[in-house]
Amino acid sequence: MHPDEETLARLALGEPVGAEDAAHAEGCASCQAFIAELAETLALVRESSGEELVAPPDSVWRAITDEVATDAAVPLSPVPAPAPTPPSASGSSGVDELAARRRPRFGWIAVAAAVGVVAGVVGTQVVPDLVSPQPQVIAQAQLDTLDTGTRGGEAELLSSRGRALDLRVQVKPLDPGDGYLEVWLINSDLKRMVSVGVLPSDATEQDFRVTRSLIDQGYVIVDISREQFDDRPQHSGDSLLRGSLA
Ligand SMILES: [Zn+2]
Repeated sequence: MHPDEETLARLALGEPVGAEDAAHAEGCASCQAFIAELAETLALVRESSGEELVAPPDSVWRAITDEVATDAAVPLSPVPAPAPTPPSASGSSGVDELAARRRPRFGWIAVAAAVGVVAGVVGTQVVPDLVSPQPQVIAQAQLDTLDTGTRGGEAELLSSRGRALDLRVQVKPLDPGDGYLEVWLINSDLKRMVSVGVLPSDATEQDFRVTRSLIDQGYVIVDISREQFDDRPQHSGDSLLRGSLA
């Protein structure tokens, strides 16, 4: 039995398929022809997009195949039985008939593959709901001044699927004095800290890429300090805002 078009499309994309399907496709002239034709189309798409092709996620495939199914459900006008022809004239009729039967849907497969290309390459921008959820806030911190505990801003730890974490800092404009503003993650042991970056003095919101391992290791206290352009790279001790991610 021939694998379905989706499987053949995956083969054309070089994606893994079941062993039985792969074995069949390898030995089947009809499937080979189908794959070759699709691969050629994909090569053209690849050439024009300059990007590597990837098979779309299953959710995208479902959306596509649902649409294909809807279209395919439109009844075809009955085809009159072909006039009998001498067997010698039709040649390898089995393969040809199958190819002809599939051909009307080939356009859809190409479109689906192209959509897959877009979904895979452009991803979040094109089909955000299907492919990539909005970043999730996995922890928050209220940032207060150390002396009076006045609220000065907040921080959020954002997670996007399959990506590193971002620390989003939102503050009322802070005064760097003669120096600059530096954002730190301090360990809950209050002994260790790492700098995650410089906050522009006019910034009210800034993202800093951090890693999950930092958070796992207990670096969960967000601190914004005023630093001087001096020869001491460590924390100045002049903290403007601080708060714990929870
Ligand atoms: Zn086949």
